[in-house]
Amino acid sequence: MQAPPGLRGEFRTDDVARALYSEGAGIFRIIPQAVAVPKDVEDLALLVRWATAEGVALVPRGAGSGMQGGNVGPGVVLDLTRACRDAPLVEREARMVRCGASITCRSLNDAAQPYGLHLPPDPSSGAFCTMGGMAATNAAGAHSVKYGTMRRWVRALEFVTADGEIGCTAGEPTRAEERFRRDVAPAIRGRTAELAGAAPRTPKNSSGYALDAFASSGRTTDLLVGSEGTLAIFTAVEVALAPLPAERTTLLVTLGSLDQVGPAVLALRPLSPSALELLDRTYLDFVRGAAQRRLAPGTEAVLLVEFEGSAQEAAVAVRGIATSVELAEDATTVGRLWELRHLASPILASLPDNLRSLQVVEDGCVPPEKLARYITALRAAAKDTGFEIVIFGHAGDGHLHANLLADLEAPDFVARLAACLERVTAEQLALGGTPSGEHGDGRLRAEFVERTFGPLYADLCRRTRAAWDPAGVLNPGVKILEAGERRALDAGALKIGPHAPGLPPGIAAKLREVERSAAWGTFRLELA
Ligand SMILES: Cc1cc2nc3c(=O)[nH]c(=O)nc-3n(C[C@H](O)[C@H](O)[C@H](O)COP(=O)(O)OP(=O)(O)OC[C@H]3O[C@@H](n4cnc5c(N)ncnc54)[C@H](O)[C@@H]3O)c2cc1C
Repeated sequence: MQAPPGLRGEFRTDDVARALYSEGAGIFRIIPQAVAVPKDVEDLALLVRWATAEGVALVPRGAGSGMQGGNVGPGVVLDLTRACRDAPLVEREARMVRCGASITCRSLNDAAQPYGLHLPPDPSSGAFCTMGGMAATNAAGAHSVKYGTMRRWVRALEFVTADGEIGCTAGEPTRAEERFRRDVAPAIRGRTAELAGAAPRTPKNSSGYALDAFASSGRTTDLLVGSEGTLAIFTAVEVALAPLPAERTTLLVTLGSLDQVGPAVLALRPLSPSALELLDRTYLDFVRGAAQRRLAPGTEAVLLVEFEGSAQEAAVAVRGIATSVELAEDATTVGRLWELRHLASPILASLPDNLRSLQVVEDGCVPPEKLARYITALRAAAKDTGFEIVIFGHAGDGHLHANLLADLEAPDFVARLAACLERVTAEQLALGGTPSGEHGDGRLRAEFVERTFGPLYADLCRRTRAAWDPAGVLNPGVKILEAGERRALDAGALKIGPHAPGLPPGIAAKLREVERSAAWGTFRLELA
């Protein structure tokens, strides 16, 4: 493949460069045809015009920390981290900030902090994930129970469309948006109630396009947030900010039975906690060695509950439900309690290669009152398919992260992974939930969108995509598939197991080190 004529940035087709972009977080390894690193937004627009004219698939990519497989693909991987670097510009009075799409969440918050402001969606990946990636996945974090997900905070997006036009949701519509507003938006608006009824009844959702949100707000921004690089490539974001809380207190609530999870969460939610996190027994067993504190024998789950004010009322609310309640008001004790929650990621990332932590059913979200049933179903599905499981997450939103621990030397583990994915997805949908609370559909869950939302909603998603990107060059195979298309987990597209695509010497180890040390912010071409 030849570089697009006139491109000023890098365009690499050598084996090493392609291998360096074959993985992100998550389970996939797909070697792209080429890697492009545009220099600026004009360079990006030129590249997209070329791709559309030549019918070349593009895979937009920020830090590559997304777990759903939307940041890898067989086409040209587009590293945006050199093109969209405008520094954050904070407007204190308006409580807004505008920045380039490749600015990290942490850098944005560092710029906002001196004004006493911050962006409330706070992924644990904030140190390295980009604002473009966060908008594209409708990312969130522990504070979404009070502050919602990215969609609530994004005010405007600047982007390049599949036509290669540079646009902004706060400006004149591009041709892509005109096509969408002419050909699809009337059908969406005419079906507002049906679409709302088809969407999962969960506090968070990053699955499917947000047709329901667009139908009620009419804002193109609402539609584009969560589109995972399939409708437009974001070049800059404008987000609202909130005042930094003056005070934080935390409750540690110990529960002796899963049956108490639902009542405890329902008792705490009305008190407006700023975080309501769950550590399941599977998690507590897993971190036991590294944890400083000892929990009472028979503990089935722990809730960490944060308030931006006093937690006294909450301590009273769970009396009679909890086995024990511990209140922490000073910063040191609060920090110590949260250590328990933060132990997971580093331990999971550094497990030995014969016991890898895999993100396959890692992001389901159900109505909060059904959490206990969901946890029971997750534990049973893992057991029956032969995996250990580690469950933790955002209980206040009914949203759980569940990592499967797989022995890669065991036979047929890919078939068992697929069986576990199928079974857990069926459970999520039966409970009225969604397969993705915050990570998105990507390649992993694209095939479940029609099952989650039904044929009408899925058809409108396909028409939305076709209006924005008629040539189908923006991240094909991600987010939504063609009608009737099914995509089983392909052992030859995974970074694990005997069928993983081979990489040039040393590259797999370098990519594994990125994963182990969470060095997602590393410019991949530098690794060579
Ligand atoms: C240790 C760890 C912890 C995590 N914790 C959280 C968490 O708490 N909450 C959470 O929500 N997620 C979490 N994630 C997942 C991930 O960090 C988020 O999805 C993040 O928003 C991805 O940002 P990124 O820049 O890495 O995007 P990528 O991984 O590069 O891309 C993700 C998706 O967005 C698209 N995309 C990226 N940039 C653009 C752009 N400029 N324009 C259009 N499309 C684009 C890609 O095509 C892809 O589909 C975690 C990941 C890791 C590894």
